[in-house]
Amino acid sequence: MVYRARASCPTCNLADEVWLDKGTVCFTPLTTCDRCGTMYDPLDFISQFIELRTNATISSKFVQSQRRT
Ligand SMILES: [Zn+2]
Repeated sequence: MVYRARASCPTCNLADEVWLDKGTVCFTPLTTCDRCGTMYDPLDFISQFIELRTNATISSKFVQSQRRT
């Protein structure tokens, strides 16, 4: 099951959203903070899990991130 989680930057605390599948981050092992550029492992800084709706569409951000890997 794929679900979303919110991770917070360890440097500036800016929240970012990540997608998890079977307990691991789907598309990238590291998240880059949009504000300060810090790279961090989102699994270490999960602040909140977000339940997926059954008919949720995949966001463009997810698609872009997937292409990057
Ligand atoms: Zn940051």
